[in-house]
Amino acid sequence: MNILILGSGGREHTLAWKLSQSPKLGKLFVAPGNAGTATIANNILIGVNEFEKIKETVLQEDIGMVVVGPEDPLVNGVHDFFLTDSALGHIAVIGPQKAAARLEGSKEFAKEFMKRHNIPTAAYKSFTSDTLEEGYAFLEGLHPPFVLKADGLAAGKGVLILDDLEEAKTELRTMLVDAKFGNASATVVIEEFLAGIELSVFVLTDGEGYKVLPTAKDYKRIGEGDTGLNTGGMGAISPVPFADTVFMDKVHERIVKPTVEGLKIDNLPYKGFIFIGLIKVDDDPFVIEYNVRMGDPETEVVVPRIKNDLVELFEAVAQGTLEDIDLEIERAAATTVMLVSGGYPEAYEKGKHITGYEHIKDSLVFHAGTQNKGGHVVTSGGRVMAITSFGIDFKEALKKSYGNVKKVHFDNMNYRKDIGFDL
Ligand code: ATP
Repeated sequence: MNILILGSGGREHTLAWKLSQSPKLGKLFVAPGNAGTATIANNILIGVNEFEKIKETVLQEDIGMVVVGPEDPLVNGVHDFFLTDSALGHIAVIGPQKAAARLEGSKEFAKEFMKRHNIPTAAYKSFTSDTLEEGYAFLEGLHPPFVLKADGLAAGKGVLILDDLEEAKTELRTMLVDAKFGNASATVVIEEFLAGIELSVFVLTDGEGYKVLPTAKDYKRIGEGDTGLNTGGMGAISPVPFADTVFMDKVHERIVKPTVEGLKIDNLPYKGFIFIGLIKVDDDPFVIEYNVRMGDPETEVVVPRIKNDLVELFEAVAQGTLEDIDLEIERAAATTVMLVSGGYPEAYEKGKHITGYEHIKDSLVFHAGTQNKGGHVVTSGGRVMAITSFGIDFKEALKKSYGNVKKVHFDNMNYRKDIGFDL
């Protein structure tokens, strides 16, 4: 079968790498892809939200399955676009329909879903500009820190955590009245602050059955010791050592099962990945957020640990036969270290020649913001490349990742030297 992946990051390179190992794969396409995907697939220069152009490619290249990497096309209804077009209706799409993608597209929707299905999460209330005064009163009744979340997608920037009540009120007003995050903050969810350690759990579902994939922990801040600005993610490890069997049983019973059941009860068809952002408070899991796709860089450590044929897994998702498959997971730990452009997540320069990564033998190199230009591979984004390694435990794997990071060079290259520091 010919497959098209939508996206251009390390996540998509990892999915492409894994899919290309399957004997069931015909031709692989990535739109728009990067210099890494170009080595194992055909890059097609169209954007992930250009549905009509995607349709043209799918028909022209006889593509039987579309795997959606990022959230944007899902929230914009790419799956529905395929379902409702008579020429495309038979093509499998991995990723939920628009209605279920609201789990990521609207924080208020996600919180209501959790409340309805008794899934543990922080207490909350949501507000609009009409209920600003009530929002102030709600803040006054909470203890700091105050957690303010823009309801809609805000490129990972829509969550504010503030210690000061007056500042929280001002920000609430700026979000609701001055549209700080545009339409995304027309509604704001205010929630109780939960103190604990975060991790992510990934689920693959066909809407009926599901498989719980390996856990992962990512490192979001730019600076060592989790300081500085938020990024898309600077590294990740899998599995998460503190997610032991007792804890994971709780995650399964209290969160994963009711989530998949809840989707069914609410009549929200779902074929794809569910990324559940969790926080462990004492010994109990609470949901911080749902994402309706895999994480990046978590994919770079989770997918390489899956031993199954990924085309077979995706076919089972499409056909609703996931329950029949035994998931096999690599026991070894995996880590990834993200190499980023100097200056990221603020302004940075692009077009820097990248060298040395071709000589890496005992780690996997997944490209993110890279492209081919004038016969060279150059940087084209903030996050440039992820170096993934295996080891008996995450410490051994990290040693390999960091050893190989030193072989890669580009001007102003930056990376975090303390992935896994808190474990
Ligand atoms: P992301 O970039 O992770 O997709 P997002 O914009 O979807 O972020 P959330 O994941 O809901 O927003 O929140 C971002 C971060 O804020 C979380 O990873 C967590 O560190 C922190 N956070 C969110 N909600 C809470 C809470 N109730 N208590 C404590 N910390 C929280």
